Amino acid sequence: MDHDVIVVGTRAAGAATAMLLARAGLRVLAVDRARFPSDTLSTHQVQVPGIARLRRWGVLDRIAAVTPAVPTVRVDAGRPAVLHGRYPTVDGVDALYGPRRTVLDAALADAAREAGAEVREGFAVEELTRDAEGRVTGIGGRERGEGRGRGPSAGRTTETAPLVIGADGKRSTIAEAVGARAYHVRPPVTFACYTYWSGVDLPVGEIHVRPGLTVPAFPTNDGLVMVALFAPLADFDRFRADPGASYQAVLDRCGGDLGERVRAGVRAEPFRLAPDVPNGFRAAHGPGWALVGDAGVVMDPVAGQGISNAFRDAELLAAAIVRGLGPGGRLDDALAGYQRDRDAAALPIYSMTRSLATLRVSAAQRLLLAAIADDPAETTRFLAVLAGAERYDDYLRAGNVLGRLGAGAKRRLCRGPARVAAADQPGAAQMSG
Ligand SMILES: Cc1cc2nc3c(=O)[nH]c(=O)nc-3n(C[C@H](O)[C@H](O)[C@H](O)COP(=O)(O)OP(=O)(O)OC[C@H]3O[C@@H](n4cnc5c(N)ncnc54)[C@H](O)[C@@H]3O)c2cc1C
Repeated sequence: MDHDVIVVGTRAAGAATAMLLARAGLRVLAVDRARFPSDTLSTHQVQVPGIARLRRWGVLDRIAAVTPAVPTVRVDAGRPAVLHGRYPTVDGVDALYGPRRTVLDAALADAAREAGAEVREGFAVEELTRDAEGRVTGIGGRERGEGRGRGPSAGRTTETAPLVIGADGKRSTIAEAVGARAYHVRPPVTFACYTYWSGVDLPVGEIHVRPGLTVPAFPTNDGLVMVALFAPLADFDRFRADPGASYQAVLDRCGGDLGERVRAGVRAEPFRLAPDVPNGFRAAHGPGWALVGDAGVVMDPVAGQGISNAFRDAELLAAAIVRGLGPGGRLDDALAGYQRDRDAAALPIYSMTRSLATLRVSAAQRLLLAAIADDPAETTRFLAVLAGAERYDDYLRAGNVLGRLGAGAKRRLCRGPARVAAADQPGAAQMSG
């Protein structure tokens, strides 16, 4: 075999996996049909747990050198349900960062190379090779731009390895080629639209939530501010008829002065529209293959969890492979463990994300936000849930939220039109992050 592992896709999931495997001493080939630095259709808030992983991997410094840290955020669901607080501290990291994918993905690809992986850009995988038993043994593909007009096999290269990892995103070629089983699949319910602005006053991160809307606004590279919106997919056709006017109308609906602040700025880039937001899991492994990142678990982007999920799963997968290929290891058993660990970690976040993707804010939720707004510790705890640093299901467990509130907050909550019990129902924390 030419390599120990081949990784297809070298953005958040693939570059991180390749880097970790190369650091463990494996011979890694990582290929991507894109060239770096390049953008992809995605906003890019990396939640605190994801940033903590970048720091542990020694990659944060090069990102932090060009990207502003965002230690505090304002969550505004309409007065009095407005929180402003600090993100939690995870392994010494206490801020979210929003690096453009041009910055983040290139930094990770560089780190993979520095670790010893061969990172081949502009290489599109077209098929998998298999042995007589059907086990995947490698990839077939070609350099972008090669072989055109010279017959189907011109410029085609084959590479072999005992394991091929699909880190090739939500429309994964690898997942499709191996027929990976899909589960927990839910229909798409939102679309996103985002762009970048200069001259917009945004001292802290902001997340505005209104019925049928979630609008995150965060600073990013080059002094720009990214302002995104998530709205019901059913409204997409109407929205895209005039994205500029629709976008501004949505910001004006947010309440407060976000619409005015954005109007005072200068749009630096075109509007990006993203109506393809599937939700679901795929089997994480099979004979000679494994999936990581969006290829394996994809969820609505409203919660901004995909990149951090990809980092977490890269770490789980790399550890499983090192165990499985090590002395006395059994790769298939190790990969089965990866799938169990991945699903256990991803399911609470998936559940929170699906709840956020309904874009609904109940009266009980608004009361809850109002009740915790003047409690910095409880606000940070709520933000820890949005950041994926605290489990959503634990947070919602009966008595947990209410038990931590002061007597005044409890009284206010109980006086409200919704019952206290409603604040502990699944979905009580439907706010985006
Ligand atoms: C509108 C939108 C907003 C989002 N906002 C956020 C956010 O704020 N925060 C967050 O954490 N997540 C966000 N996400 C989710 C995030 O984009 C994904 O979770 C993340 O990109 C997954 O990384 P990945 O490496 O698994 O896949 P990708 O980033 O999709 O990378 C896959 C790579 O595989 C390559 N590839 C595919 N097929 C082949 C092939 N056949 N041969 C060679 N290469 C191939 C592609 O070129 C690509 O570079 C958002 C997503 C969307 C759509």
